[in-house]
Amino acid sequence: MRAVAVTPMRAGSARQVELPVPTATRDMALMRVLEVGIDGTDTEINSGLYGEAPPGSDFLVIGHEALSVVEAVGEGVSGFSRGDLVVSTVRRPDDCPNCRAGESDMCLFGRYTERGIKGAHGYMGEYYAETPAFMIKIPPVLRPFAVLLEPLRIVEKATAQAWKIGPLSSARDRSASSVRSCCAYAASMCTSMPSRHPTRCRATSLPASAPATKPSRITP
Ligand SMILES: [Zn+2]
Repeated sequence: MRAVAVTPMRAGSARQVELPVPTATRDMALMRVLEVGIDGTDTEINSGLYGEAPPGSDFLVIGHEALSVVEAVGEGVSGFSRGDLVVSTVRRPDDCPNCRAGESDMCLFGRYTERGIKGAHGYMGEYYAETPAFMIKIPPVLRPFAVLLEPLRIVEKATAQAWKIGPLSSARDRSASSVRSCCAYAASMCTSMPSRHPTRCRATSLPASAPATKPSRITP
């Protein structure tokens, strides 16, 4: 199969590589990639700023934003079947207390891996294999937008954290364009939200107890 890989820490090394199609072992599913995003992280990895190949490999398949469809499942996989739409998560936890509690984004030890970024191949290929624990099933109605799930979850968390601090007076994001776009979408939803219906904020995971004043526009 074709994939896009870099030699980590070497600027401008992105290239097409040929790799074997992964097999869906007993507890894994084989995914065919439908759409993949390219963001600032991918650009920085290709600029040689960071990135880490998996153990035993001298290259890293990049890509961490992807919408895929299940092609096959191992006999030990439940809850997923051929044809399901899936977005797989990026980070694979280590054994720190936060990771064990299911909050690997708050990892304390830094021994995690991240697909397409740190120590694990990513999704910018025709196929990849994954375990159900890191697969999110996507309702078909979300098919046109689901590739944005990974950047949207960053915005979702940032917005929720901002509400915990206080009214959202200003927020600026200077990272990847996909994140900026999701910031703009989320801000648009919030600014159009009638203040008398705070529960509608749950559409962007904002707490129902959030201040009733309209948040200012997020500047992408
Ligand atoms: Zn951890």
